[in-house]
Amino acid sequence: MKADNDQELAKRRAIIDTCLRMNASGLNQGTSGNVSIRHGDGLLISPASRPYDTLEPEDVVHLAMDGTSSGRWPPSSEWRFHRDILAARPDAGAVVHAHPTYCTTLAIMERGIPAIHYMIAVFGGADIRCAPYAIYGSQELSDLALEALTDRKACLLAHHGMIAVGSTIEQAYWLAWELETLARQYHGCLQLGSPPPVLSDQQIQDVIDKIAGYGLADD
Ligand code: 13P
Ligand code: ZN
Repeated sequence: MKADNDQELAKRRAIIDTCLRMNASGLNQGTSGNVSIRHGDGLLISPASRPYDTLEPEDVVHLAMDGTSSGRWPPSSEWRFHRDILAARPDAGAVVHAHPTYCTTLAIMERGIPAIHYMIAVFGGADIRCAPYAIYGSQELSDLALEALTDRKACLLAHHGMIAVGSTIEQAYWLAWELETLARQYHGCLQLGSPPPVLSDQQIQDVIDKIAGYGLADD
């Protein structure tokens, strides 16, 4: 489907750029992962299983909130959680889903991430939850992901990957990398044997109060 205006074309390009960026940076590989941006009453989303380096703006799919899609390809198989997150979170403007190695390693072990580092505060609280397993593309996965995202901007998906939710696509991508960094650090801590010490809820709250506007964090 063709873009109706410059703003829509810019969003279609931003989705493709983010898909390319997440693979070039090592955050994701192959045709895993998917990206969406809110658009009017609906959203624009990467197509299902198309190699990212072949994507043209017309390949990005428009989705209405009732799940009706328009475009030359079917929408990402994960359109349900993209749609449900954007519907449930008026503050959210974009969603990045990927299968980064360290996030996915923890998710395979069905582990979330505790408050090992103060940067966890940019996700809204003292932990990152891991949603229980459900098959990819299912409404069950969307429901479980939404629950794991309560008051948070990211979650892990057991035996699968992660989701980051941003006010903008730039923020969602930034959060995705911050999450992979935390996962790598936690993985490193776990190699050292005993469970790592963690910051208290108050220490995390102090960071939440201080960090507004830092990097791509919300003001
Ligand atoms: P799509 O290619 O359908 O977006 O699926 C990739 C994926 O990561 C499924 O969870
Ligand atoms: Zn996936």
